[in-house]
Formats: sequence, structure tokens, C-alpha cells
Amino acid sequence: MPSTYDVINPANESIVETVNLLSLEETDAVIAKAAKAFENWKNVAPGERARLLRAFSQVVTDHREELAQLEITNSGHTRGNALWEADNVANTLMYYAAAPERLFGRQIPVPGGIDVTFKEPLGVVGVIVPWNFPMPIAGWGFAPALAAGNTVVLKPAEYTPLTAIRLGELALKAGIPEGVFNVLPGKGSIVGNRFVTHPLVRKVVFTGSTTVGKQIMVGCADQVKRVTLELGGKSSNIIFADADVAKAAAGAPGAVFDNAGQDCCARSRILVQKSAFDTFMEHFEVAVKKFRVEDPNLATADMGPLISKKQFDVVESFLDEPVAFKGSAPTGPGYWMPPTVLLPKNTQSRSWREEIFGPVVSVMTFEDEAEAIQMANDSEYGLSGSIWTRDVGRALRVSRGIETGALSVNSNSSVRFWTPFGGFKQSGLGRELGPDALDSFTEVKNVFISND
Ligand code: NAP
Ligand code: MG
Repeated sequence: MPSTYDVINPANESIVETVNLLSLEETDAVIAKAAKAFENWKNVAPGERARLLRAFSQVVTDHREELAQLEITNSGHTRGNALWEADNVANTLMYYAAAPERLFGRQIPVPGGIDVTFKEPLGVVGVIVPWNFPMPIAGWGFAPALAAGNTVVLKPAEYTPLTAIRLGELALKAGIPEGVFNVLPGKGSIVGNRFVTHPLVRKVVFTGSTTVGKQIMVGCADQVKRVTLELGGKSSNIIFADADVAKAAAGAPGAVFDNAGQDCCARSRILVQKSAFDTFMEHFEVAVKKFRVEDPNLATADMGPLISKKQFDVVESFLDEPVAFKGSAPTGPGYWMPPTVLLPKNTQSRSWREEIFGPVVSVMTFEDEAEAIQMANDSEYGLSGSIWTRDVGRALRVSRGIETGALSVNSNSSVRFWTPFGGFKQSGLGRELGPDALDSFTEVKNVFISND
């Protein structure tokens, strides 16, 4: 009996499509195919591999509207976000298309001969993707992996397989050889777990919950399998009284409610210096009430629905704390929730400590710089964060003081394909994107050649 999954449009609860889920045997067959394709792909000349990745990037760009539409329907992402996400895949591919011709080793002075290093591909790389950003998170894994000469097996989340399936088809259309980039819709417990246990999968790139990430790390230990983890977050948005408080407040809804808060970088803890609290909250309330939660197909939408009934119920369980104010959301079918601002009693409140992954933010105050840093670091997570101040020295001190992987000062943007992205503490292991990501998709090989 083949198992299937009904993909639901979270904006209206209609069934979009029924997708076949791969069995263990089918998964093994695709992994074997990817291992075979690796034998040729690793030997494709660097310039040719680069050309193929540029072609893939161009085909994604040619289909950006179609990919965006699929994501709007499958995930409830706003039109603006979905187009950005399709473009992010194309941009990440184009960025790493420059890599095959620049994967330099070193020549190291030694006695008796020459010594050179090579950056060798690993083999088959397994990429496990969550449902919150199906396109970008897939691309951050497969683009550098392919560029470094690996082949890829990619498992999308059960909720959101449609854009990944389409990207697999587009790769072939661009001329990427059969077996090099494989998309395997299926269950985490079957397909995802097989990436961990199959000896021919040499590395796992996992993005998702910290709980599953820990299981993956344990499983990979058995084969000393390479692993990169991008896990949860509970990032802070720190507003000092010397900042442009109105600007910080105007940007704060987008920093946490974007993608309905289903973002590992969501700034879900707002820390405001006590003397600026009233001014901040006044501006923040105006901004939250202006934040448009509506049909994600509309160009004006700032936020769509949550991904599922299950996620809706999880997020709703956090709403028993004092509410400062709320925005609005459509009623009727779909997993709609208004953006909500909470005032937790203290730093032990559940909303202050746990990743909510929904349109809910908690606000607390601090007295001074030292307390701001202490409160920001009082979390098992450390993924992103924002600092708002006009004082350059303070910006520098607080940036160095916060235990988190991607910070922004007077800005809420944390992800750029040019720069490294990843977490401190339980937010993850390793870095994606930027120039360094290639190191996690290659092994360094040292070769000594004797003068004799
Ligand atoms: P999850 O269970 O960690 O799922 C992430 C991916 O891992 C999915 O593709 C999932 O497949 C797969 N998976 C699940 N169990 C697996 C296993 N034992 N072995 C290998 N792969 C496995 O995340 P979720 O349940 O979708 O979301 C739960 C919470 O995780 C969220 O509420 C949020 O707090 C957090 N989260 C964080 C991020 C992030 O970007 N850091 C992203 C998503 C979720 P299935 O689709 O079949 O389950
Ligand atoms: Mg799960």
C-alpha cells in the first residue's frame, strides 16, 4: 500500500494535491542512484559544473512566478515573501556557481618535496528541510553541496513538498545530470531517518526542531557522519533609549510576525530600556494594528495563516499570559491568528523562554546595558537578534556580549547568502551560507609528493 499525504492550503483548508510518500526501499534506491551519479559528478570539470549551476539558477528565475504561486498555495506565504524565496534559491545557486572554479587548496612548504591540499567532495549529502521556509532552506543546503561536487538527496517537510518537487524537475531541465539532485517526499521517521542510518549518505544537513536535531546528531555519531544543524531560536530585539525608538518600533512587527512568526530568527523577545518603554509601546501598537494579515495572494499582505491546525493549537497554548494588544486576522476557514503582544510576568514565563513559532511576541524592560546582555543571553538558544542604538561603542559592546550567531544593528535582517548563518548553544552546529559553507561540504585531503 503506497502511503500518500494530502497537501492542505492553510489559508482555506482545501486539499491542493496528494503526494506519494517514499517507502524505505524507494529511499534506498534513490540513495544508491545518487551514489552512482557522484562518480561522474565529482569529475565534471569545475568550469562545466559552474556553468550547470548558473543554468539551474537561470531556470529557477524563469519559473519564479510559478514557484512563488506554489508556495503561496502550499504554505500560505505572502506573495512578497514567496517571490523573495524563489529569488533566494536562484541567488544562492548563482553565488555558489562561482565556487567550483575557486575551491582552492594550499601548497604548504615542507622538506623533501611539495605538499598540497585538496578539498574533496564528501559523496551523497542528505538535506532535511522543515516546513517554514521550504525553498530557501533547501537551497542553502543543495547549492553549496552540489557546487563542491557532492550529489544530494533532499527530503522536504511532509506539509510543504511542492516547491522542492518542482525544483527537482527544474534541475533536470537546466541540464543537471540525472541522479545528482534528488527530491524525496516522505516521512521524517522513514526517509529522513534513512539519511542518518544509510552508510552511503556521508553528511546530513538538518533544519528543524531542537528535539529532532539532537536525535539526528546522536544517530550520526554511530558512523561519525558529518552533520550541520540549524535549530530553534528565541532571539531578542533590544531597544536602547538612545535609539531611533520610533523606527525600531515600526520595524518590530516584521521582525517577529513575518511568515506568521514561523521563523527560527523571529525576534520573539523584545527588550526595551525602561525609560523608553512608553514611547516604544505607543509606536509599536500603531505598527501592530497596521500589520495586514490577509489573503497571502494579495500584494498588500504582511502575513498569512499558520501552516497547520497542529501549529495553531501549539501557538494558542501560549496565549494565557497578559496581553498588551493584538492586531487583526480574517475569520472562517484557514489557520488564522492575529499578531499578539504579551507582557510576561517575569523571565520564567513560558512565552519568554520557549520558541513559540507563531505570531506572538513578549515584551520586557531592562535598566542598563549589562542587564540587557544578561537577559538576552538567558536562553538555551542563540540564533539571531537586533540591537537598536545610536551609540556605536554600545552597539559594538552589546554585539560582542550577546551569545548568538547572526546579529543586526539598527536593522532586523539576519540572512544574506553572502554571509555565514547559524547558531550558538542549542540553536545549532556549523554554519551555512557565505564563503565558509563550502568547508562543511568538503574534506581536506593532504598530499605529499617526494622530490625523489
Ligand atoms: P521537525 O519535526 O524537527 O521537522 C523538521 C524536518 O525533519 C521535517 O522534514 C521532518 O519530517 C523531519 N524529521 C522529523 N523527524 C525526523 C527524524 N526522526 N529523522 C529525520 N528527520 C526527521 O519540526 P516540526 O515538527 O515540523 O516543527 C516543530 C517545531 O520545530 C516548531 O514548532 C518550531 O519550534 C521548530 N522548527 C524550527 C525550525 C527552524 O528553522 N529552526 C523549522 C521548523 C520547525 P516530517 O515533515 O515528516 O515531520
Ligand atoms: Mg515533527
